[in-house]
Amino acid sequence: MADIKSPEARSLNMSKIRSKDTKPEKWLRKRLFERGYRYRKNANNIPGHPDAWLAKYNTAIFVHGCFWHRHCGCKYAYMPKSRVDFWQDKFQQNTERDQKVRKELLARGTKMLIVWECTVKKMMRQDEYSDEVIDKIEDFLRSGEKFREI
Ligand SMILES: [Zn+2]
Repeated sequence: MADIKSPEARSLNMSKIRSKDTKPEKWLRKRLFERGYRYRKNANNIPGHPDAWLAKYNTAIFVHGCFWHRHCGCKYAYMPKSRVDFWQDKFQQNTERDQKVRKELLARGTKMLIVWECTVKKMMRQDEYSDEVIDKIEDFLRSGEKFREI
C-alpha cells in the first residue's frame, strides 16, 4: 500500500511535472545563452507558450518530451501496458493541442522549432557534441523554413 494514488491522480501529477522547467529545457537554454541568443521563457503572449521565444528571430522553440508529445518512432514514446484507453485519450489530446499550436504559429508567420527531448539528452550525455544541437538551431534560424523538428 505504498502508493495510494489512483493512476489518474498519479498521471495528473506527472502532467504537472511536465510543464515545469525540465533539465533538457534548462540545458538547452543555457547553451543558447552562451552562444549569445536572448530569449523569453514561456512567453504567454505566444501560442503554446514556447520554452524559448526568440523575438529577434520570430522563432518559438519547444523542447518536447518524447513520451507526452509522441515522438514518432522514438523508444521513449512507448505505450504504457495498463489503462491503455486512458493513455490513448491523453496522448490524442496532447497531439491535437500540438497541432493547433503549430497552425496558430504558422498563421501568424512565426517560425516553430521542436527540439525532441531525446536529441537534447543525447547531447547532454556526449558533452563534446553539445554544440551540435545549437548548430542545428542556428541552421534553422538562418533558413527560410517555417517549421522543423530536430
Ligand atoms: Zn524522442
